[in-house]
Amino acid sequence: MFRELLPYLEEWFKEADLRGYSIPEDYGACPDARLQERINQTVEEFTRLMKGCYPFHQPDYAGQMLKPPHPVAWLGAVMAMSVNTNNHALDGGPPTSEMEKEVIRDLSGMTGFPKTALGHLTSGGTVANLEALWVARSLHPDKEIFYSADAHYTHSRMCEVLGARHRKISLDASEPDFSRNLEEDLQGAGTLVVTLGTTGRGKIEPLHTILPVCKKLGVRVHVDAAYGGFFTLLKKSGLMNAAPWHKLGEADSIVIDPHKHGLQPYGCGCVLFRDASVGRFYKHDSPYTYFSSEDLHLGEITLECSRAGAAAAALWFTIRCLGLGSDSVFARMLADCIEAARIFAAKIDKTPGLKLLESPETDIVCYYPDAPTIHEISGKSRAVFQDLMQQGTHSLFVSLYKMETSEFQRLRPEIRVDDSVSTVTILRSVLMKPSHKGFAGEMVTRINASLQHIA
Ligand SMILES: *Cc1c(COP(=O)(O)O)cnc(C)c1O
Repeated sequence: MFRELLPYLEEWFKEADLRGYSIPEDYGACPDARLQERINQTVEEFTRLMKGCYPFHQPDYAGQMLKPPHPVAWLGAVMAMSVNTNNHALDGGPPTSEMEKEVIRDLSGMTGFPKTALGHLTSGGTVANLEALWVARSLHPDKEIFYSADAHYTHSRMCEVLGARHRKISLDASEPDFSRNLEEDLQGAGTLVVTLGTTGRGKIEPLHTILPVCKKLGVRVHVDAAYGGFFTLLKKSGLMNAAPWHKLGEADSIVIDPHKHGLQPYGCGCVLFRDASVGRFYKHDSPYTYFSSEDLHLGEITLECSRAGAAAAALWFTIRCLGLGSDSVFARMLADCIEAARIFAAKIDKTPGLKLLESPETDIVCYYPDAPTIHEISGKSRAVFQDLMQQGTHSLFVSLYKMETSEFQRLRPEIRVDDSVSTVTILRSVLMKPSHKGFAGEMVTRINASLQHIA
């Protein structure tokens, strides 16, 4: 479909020429014969080097959170990139800044935040979380930031950057005393990070149970839904537990990455604040004054300065073309991913020699080769992982997941811990492309073949 969109690009570049957005003569564009030759050579070299990519667009790749952007996102990005607007300030790209404001309203509406919420795009989830934690620390300078053991690793790092005291607690509702202990566990917390869609195992932390406790204690709630945010579109589908999603709009801040499940090219994260008055923390005095608007411009509510207007254009394009409702392409693709994960998990569960760690809550599945000890499980997992990638055109790309031995033992008390290893390595598949639905069976066949192969 990328190729089918080329005529739109042709038209756009005609328009761009007309408006003077074409590349200036003094950039030495063709017809300099030497440049032409170098372009040819470089294209050749690029094409050769890019053969080093894994098959990200194919279902054979189920390793990390990587998939192609939607072609319409790519079209929007390329067109905007040719003008190269900067959404730091309204002056840097008046139209793409308006597009950003519009998509922020869309995403905010999707979460259940009020119309008055504040938000902006970022270059990714890490910076978006940094901003949310920075506001959190500014509001509770004397208290700690808590996050769960399954939170993205950058939370602890960003707390270090901010000089905020921080602590890891368990937010696993399957633990026997979870609700009873939560109030006690939260003593000293100013903010709690709750992850909807953990990066490792795609787990949805129980926001619905956590939120009332936090409200009672006056603890701020930041939801990291960088990976999982778009799954809220499925809350009425019956495909997942709706309870946490119904509470999403009551959080204080939310992070969603459109470049994960929002079909966007990289460079598109988003942070949202329910209470717009936190905008005051961003107040700054720039000597490089902007002249065109009295409105609060995006540069006044972001930590990053220059940002690609193309990211906003791509997301705006995508939402305009596909919608963002519970029956949109977004929702249908996510439903396919969940179903893919369930089919895959069920087949793993039925395969002798393979064990499912837990039923998937989203589209990430963890599993491992059956063995009596932690040591053997880790060794076999690594061997299968390696073997799967060495099957030529029949290769399968999955990932390894390292988990705390204590957590693994809680789920699998029958497995022996034979030495003092603190972690166990298991297998993980991210089925985040709809094409995984029809391919899940083939994946298990290949994993099983590798399991036989390494025996
Ligand atoms: C991916 C991810 C992040 C980091 O986002 P980047 O866009 O990679 O910077 C943070 N939190 C969660 C839950 C994630 O899945």
